[in-house]
Amino acid sequence: MRTMNPVPTTSNPPPRHAVVIAIGTELTLGQTVDTNSARLAQWLAGLGIRAAWHVTVPDELAPIRAALAEAARRADVILVTGGLGPTDDDLTRQALADEAGAPLESDPESVAHIRAFFAALKRPMPERNLVQALIPRGGRAISNPVGTAPGLYVELHGTPCYVLPGVPAEMERMFQQEVAPRLRAAVGGRVLLQRRLHCFGLGESVIGERIADLMQRGRNPEVGTTAELGIIGVRINATADAAPQAAALLDEAERTIRARLGDVVFGRDKQTLSSVVGQLLTARGATLSTAESCTGGLLGKLLTDVPGSSTYYLGGLITYANAVKSGLAGVPAADIERHGAVSEPVAVALAAGCHQRLGSDFALSITGIAGPAGGSTEKPVGLVYVGLATPTDVSARALQLGAWSSRRMIRARAAYAALDWLRLHLARVGR
Ligand code: ATP
Repeated sequence: MRTMNPVPTTSNPPPRHAVVIAIGTELTLGQTVDTNSARLAQWLAGLGIRAAWHVTVPDELAPIRAALAEAARRADVILVTGGLGPTDDDLTRQALADEAGAPLESDPESVAHIRAFFAALKRPMPERNLVQALIPRGGRAISNPVGTAPGLYVELHGTPCYVLPGVPAEMERMFQQEVAPRLRAAVGGRVLLQRRLHCFGLGESVIGERIADLMQRGRNPEVGTTAELGIIGVRINATADAAPQAAALLDEAERTIRARLGDVVFGRDKQTLSSVVGQLLTARGATLSTAESCTGGLLGKLLTDVPGSSTYYLGGLITYANAVKSGLAGVPAADIERHGAVSEPVAVALAAGCHQRLGSDFALSITGIAGPAGGSTEKPVGLVYVGLATPTDVSARALQLGAWSSRRMIRARAAYAALDWLRLHLARVGR
């Protein structure tokens, strides 16, 4: 197969902005989730290239051409996936040729590669597969070590355009082996490093206010926030000529953000609330158990998502029915009768009973109304009590997680709030 020419770095400025195009009717119909574009955008970011736009178009000539034409106007480099197969609905090749104003020509090395691919599988090659060897004149094939469809490199109105198959594994191999080295050379050593801080206990808008100056547009590092189920992520992207400078920019921004947000920041990058709680428990050689009602084991699931959690997590009781709250965790039936299952005394008794029966140093309990039914004026949906038993004390607190919130949201936030309470307790008493 013909090897690709390097990206013409002399005539083109270093690429800064990319447009990522995903082609496939199954994508626009929502039958397949477009993971290729997200992964490409992340890899491009690692090379210091910002994916400024994502476009998804069906397997139809006109929309594909329109997307390519628009991308060529907007981007320094274009990345396309999908529609390179041998069937009639695979139109990417034709659209590229039309937009480049260049006829499709058979590439002998690609033909040889496709024939060899089938020969290695000891399967007859359908003649139809030879359309995959067609390349717009002036373009180049990108070799595909794991499939039949070669990728393509063409220039569209002067903008470099890399086209890769839609199959994620093929796309990844070809991007990493063939495209990334060329882009790295074209970028000329500039790097973009990313870091993410995780926060719990303050809303996104309050966090946004506290770091508003850092979030202004056009700054380097660039800072932005995201929110998911009550956990706020603060994303920091730093661009510099070399990794140490970019890392120094990240460090400085992280220091400032931590100083402004205090212990609302619970971790960074791959850390989670449960992994941080695990580290704190491990550091003091302590153990934990859980008793859950409305979260039905979610807290235990989060804790055991962390590899090695068996060193500090003893286990949990799922005490959904009142009889089980009494039977397994020893909650006095009179407390349930008098205060209701969703109440502070019951949360306290659950934590205390679990603590004692499982013999752990700490115990967390959760009882609440996750909805959508079951709420009342006095006890609305979203009312959750979290209990914490420590070696010296047991207490509970009420959370109002919002009658408008979904069941999923209420359960997740209740579990996170329980973990966060223990995190803060361990961090504060540990000091
Ligand atoms: P092939 O020659 O293997 O058919 P292709 O370039 O024609 O490659 P498509 O036919 O568009 O690729 O897609 C093949 C499969 O790859 C799809 O059925 C889908 O499962 C997956 N796929 C395609 N595009 C994406 C995408 N953007 N994100 C995730 N998966 C995708």
